[in-house]
Amino acid sequence: MYYLSTVNLLFNSICMKKILLTTCIIAAFACNKVEKAETYSNYPIEAVNLNHVQLSDNFWLPRIESIQNKVIRYAFDKCEAEGRLENFVIAGQVIKGGEGCARGKMPFDDTDVYKTLEGLAYSLINSPNPTLEAYADSVITIIAQGQEPDGYLTTWRTINPMKPTSDWVTPGPRWSHLDISHELYNSGHLFEAAAAYYWATGKRNMLDIALKNADLLLSVFGDNTYNAVPGHQIVETGLIKLYQITGKEEYLHLSKKFLDLRGDSSVREIWGAENIQDHLPVLEQEEAVGHAVRAVYMYAGMTDIAAIYQDAEYLAAVHKLWENMVNKKMYITGGIGSRHHLEMFGDNYELPNLTAYSETCASIGSVYWNERLFRLTGDAKYYDIIERTMYNALIAGISLEGTEFFYPNPLESDGEYAFNKGACTREAWFDCSCCPTNLIRFIPYVPNLIYATHDNDIYINLFMSNKASIPGKAVTIKQETNYPWDGKIKIHVSANERQAFALKIRIPEWVVNKPVPSSLYQYADTSDDTYKVWLDGKEIKGELTNGYFEIKQDWPENSLVELDLPMQVRHVVANEQVTDLKGLMSIEYGPLVYCAEEIDNKGHFEQIRFSTKDHFSVESAPELLGGINSIKKKEDSKEQSFIPYYTWSNRGIGKMKVWFAQE
Ligand SMILES: [Zn+2]
Repeated sequence: MYYLSTVNLLFNSICMKKILLTTCIIAAFACNKVEKAETYSNYPIEAVNLNHVQLSDNFWLPRIESIQNKVIRYAFDKCEAEGRLENFVIAGQVIKGGEGCARGKMPFDDTDVYKTLEGLAYSLINSPNPTLEAYADSVITIIAQGQEPDGYLTTWRTINPMKPTSDWVTPGPRWSHLDISHELYNSGHLFEAAAAYYWATGKRNMLDIALKNADLLLSVFGDNTYNAVPGHQIVETGLIKLYQITGKEEYLHLSKKFLDLRGDSSVREIWGAENIQDHLPVLEQEEAVGHAVRAVYMYAGMTDIAAIYQDAEYLAAVHKLWENMVNKKMYITGGIGSRHHLEMFGDNYELPNLTAYSETCASIGSVYWNERLFRLTGDAKYYDIIERTMYNALIAGISLEGTEFFYPNPLESDGEYAFNKGACTREAWFDCSCCPTNLIRFIPYVPNLIYATHDNDIYINLFMSNKASIPGKAVTIKQETNYPWDGKIKIHVSANERQAFALKIRIPEWVVNKPVPSSLYQYADTSDDTYKVWLDGKEIKGELTNGYFEIKQDWPENSLVELDLPMQVRHVVANEQVTDLKGLMSIEYGPLVYCAEEIDNKGHFEQIRFSTKDHFSVESAPELLGGINSIKKKEDSKEQSFIPYYTWSNRGIGKMKVWFAQE
């Protein structure tokens, strides 16, 4: 075993700073740009990629800017301070015959660097930043140093295969303990980041590292070689992204092989087969079980396979898993994975509030999966899940300041519960920092989720102020809205020349008296208010198809579509089989789930009750919590106050609840 002295560590750290500086200069010359790549998904419906969408939104744009201007650098500084960057340098020295000892605590620490790079890449697409890009190039040069000559890239094992960074990882040769080594998880995030950076910049520096690693995987795990199952999924979707860029079918085959092999592995370490979704062949899995992040990453990979191979069996399997999750295992916030123990899905209808896990990464994975299901089917119900998750469980994971993070996202806090870190207050970083870096990679990707096209259809799935040029259509769409605080949306449609197409506008299920596309939650009150649509000032009516209001016509040069999605406070109750929510009620407004914090309800927090007879007022509070609508209720001369769930715990540790007793 090799140990570095403090002096050596400092020396390494100084070396790395020098590398960062010099590679900035080298990178400027070495990375010849090629034309920015469009990505093709092999799905029947294509997303309108974020390079065609310019946000001007009051809600999402500041969040994306905060990631680019502050959080990315913050995360790289953390990675540097905790050795995640240095590990690549140490690995490089070991490869050259030197000595070393990995820093950090997790076998997947490398991925925090990849995920931060991925978010950086997406942020560059609409907001070029040469300084940040040069910094990224220097980080990529550091990553390259840690790659072994044959393409292998997992720094802790290169540095010392007998001394894993975590004591729960079994030492041994490459690929010998895939259940827990995270070698293929590291590859998966490398591929996802490389695809993003190539797309954003046209540079091959990160992509070449990824392809070299992927080619190694082909030689080890490809056809007629070692049959093994990744212990933590994501290499499946990562390989497919490399296939989509290069057209190399072996990457696609290996992705499918990793999925097809499941249910037939006998090697088990620590977590058990069900926790890593290896208990049954994927086509026979009907219940969402095990580690929630692993699960939704795998379901996303299965959906890719269903789309690319047009495989009906794969499609049937993901539909069953989706129905199970949405009908029996999802929080009202869109969060999934209810147990702290092994970060896993609970049993059907097991949805506790105080001890909810609802990992931020699982919400992000659910969005990635649901977005694929939409592109495969054209059904708006997947976007009902995406919207609910994005505006509630997912962004609750990051503080309004942008530099504190929740790992679990409980729906109740007693101000004390700290079964696991981050259960009642956000933290600056974690030893296992998957959630912060996942937020960094996800948030700049948000503009990619707004529009999609299929033949002569243009889908509008999310509402935020932006201007988008629709590829292949010579059509520009401009949205103006104050969503999610107001349901009024102006959609300016400009066509270069008169042309026929269908504009499909998603009408959220919360507008048509259904909070979710399942039987898990329902409104306890009724409302006659419904959506309205005007075309050039004239109200138009029509039936919804798959959740979309369709305007099909010969579009003149300029048209104005106005949409009114009436927002009001609605009472929600859960399916009575959810014992933890029996007799409880929650409220929501538009796409936002609301909660009450003790800080706003001193002296009467414990007395809060809901009833369908409640009279609420909705008040714009631009100075509060980054600018929100707060909801008030007068009760016995006391004013109860409610805030959007995602804003909780931004004013210190205290009590919070989403669900209250029903009067
Ligand atoms: Zn996480």
